[in-house]
Amino acid sequence: MPKIIVANYFQETNSFHPNPTTYEDFNVHFGQDLFEAGREDINGALNIFSQRSDLEIVPTYGASMGAGGTITHECFDRTTGECLEAIEKNSAGADALFFALHGAMAAEIEKDPEGYILEETRKILGPDIPIVISLDMHGTVTRRMLELIDGAAILHTYPHIDWYQLGERTATMLLSILDGAKPVIGSVYTPTMVRGDELKTATGVHGTFIRHLERLEERDDVLAAGIMLGHPPTDCPEQGSRIIVVTDNNRELAEREAMRIGQNFWDMRERMQCVLHSVEEAIENAKKADGSVVFSDAADATSSGAPGTSNAILKGFLESDYTGRVLLPIRDEPAIKQAMKAGLGSTITVPLGGTRDPRFTPIDVEVTVEALAIRDDIPIAVLRAGNITIVAATQGGILCDRWMYPAVGQDPKTFDVIIQKLPHTPYEFYDEWAVRNMTIDVPGAASPNIKTLGHKIVPRPIYPLDEDMSFTPQVEIFD
Ligand SMILES: [Zn+2]
Repeated sequence: MPKIIVANYFQETNSFHPNPTTYEDFNVHFGQDLFEAGREDINGALNIFSQRSDLEIVPTYGASMGAGGTITHECFDRTTGECLEAIEKNSAGADALFFALHGAMAAEIEKDPEGYILEETRKILGPDIPIVISLDMHGTVTRRMLELIDGAAILHTYPHIDWYQLGERTATMLLSILDGAKPVIGSVYTPTMVRGDELKTATGVHGTFIRHLERLEERDDVLAAGIMLGHPPTDCPEQGSRIIVVTDNNRELAEREAMRIGQNFWDMRERMQCVLHSVEEAIENAKKADGSVVFSDAADATSSGAPGTSNAILKGFLESDYTGRVLLPIRDEPAIKQAMKAGLGSTITVPLGGTRDPRFTPIDVEVTVEALAIRDDIPIAVLRAGNITIVAATQGGILCDRWMYPAVGQDPKTFDVIIQKLPHTPYEFYDEWAVRNMTIDVPGAASPNIKTLGHKIVPRPIYPLDEDMSFTPQVEIFD
């Protein structure tokens, strides 16, 4: 009975986040708890595995969280130590490893944590046991990783809606390898950092690449095909984008298809940059708009690992003569404390913003406390400053929860401008009814104005930091 062991190591590092990620930030699962953690990627894999009665599936360890700052060395040391110990404990008689990764981790010293953990895992399992990995598309696959693995599958959708299918695709590839497939990975790296609307799979250039790769995946001799876009807020030595085509022993096909998409991807680099509007310009556009307008504060998107405490757009509105109704989210623990102390209906002056990000200075704003609520144990306050309704929460993650506004009785459709601390949302949220959606050029740890982030470690030249660079894509084979 083939024994497949399952592990998970998952975080998206934003190197420009002012606060580090520590062990307490991770959700850690030992043994069976990993299968009960509700991870969609692992659930998808378990669904595929459950369709065969001849498999033994063994959970080992998982350490996962969303996006955050650089992982402290202590945290990296402890999580990798625990993970490797659990893999080693379950390695006797193991025939394969399914490793659910993100691909965008960076620690204080180790800038390729996934490469490190795969290298140490390989030492435990030996050279012959297949290791397959699943990945978010926002990350870096290093050459070290590609040399150590037998196959990789990557998310196909942004906004991400195929986590479960990702698990299914990865598990199916793993079973094919166990059944005798001989994986050959063709990969093309491009020195690119990309952001913006063209990366929305449903409507952008990204989707045309993905549809080609999906068609490729339908072939019997293709095990997986995908694009690692890179994650610009992770400052790491192999930052860039990568096409990965895994075939069953078809080197020529892996080379040709990786090269075809790789060349196309490089040619499209300029289009895959974000179109940005200054706050002033966006406010002027909002005045002229014939309906609700969305301002995307992608620079402070908590989903991309920013703290959520930016007040740059708030400041823009306070300094403008805009009179329409504005709905604005912010993470601000002290303001909520003050609002709770003052009570519902009271008018107070609170410093807003900048609590966890020295890029921003708190601004004193006179507000009326309109509502106080708790959602998923997170205190939320609705504070009204004239035409601006501020929804403050004590935690960053909830700011990218699109149910936050309805949870405190605010219907975004009744506002003229809705600010969201997200790069994008699924179409049915906002874009379906808003007349315009603008990404605002403000500072922030996840700014889509990539040149402003302040990279120190990424390889140079890289686009768009070095706009006039020349580059000839080349295919690499890992088998
Ligand atoms: Zn992602």
